[in-house]
Amino acid sequence: MQSKISRRAVVKGGLIAGAFIPAIGLMANSAAAAGLPPLDPADPTAQALGYVADATKVDAKANATYKPNQKCSTCAQFLGKAGDASGGCNIFAGKSVVAGGWCKVWAQKPAA
Ligand code: SF4
Repeated sequence: MQSKISRRAVVKGGLIAGAFIPAIGLMANSAAAAGLPPLDPADPTAQALGYVADATKVDAKANATYKPNQKCSTCAQFLGKAGDASGGCNIFAGKSVVAGGWCKVWAQKPAA
């Protein structure tokens, strides 16, 4: 029986593991976000950052950086998948935000 493991096998195994570990992490994020309680717009941090559950209701005068096409689902901090009604947010850890919501931290999600 040959117990030697070739360098090629080790490299190949490492590449396969490297491809799956991030995918598992993404699945865990989505699964975790699904059970998160919704962020209350009355939460002090949410208020400080001007969070609203409906981006069309943003007070544009009070939020000069707001543009009509901005919403959580297009934000770099949004952890939900495309088409999700809500998802986690890197800024509001432990809470879910509405895909159509908005806050002052909004930044364009990079193209996939
Ligand atoms: S940081 Fe982005 S995803 Fe989070 S609440 Fe603000 S706009 Fe929405």
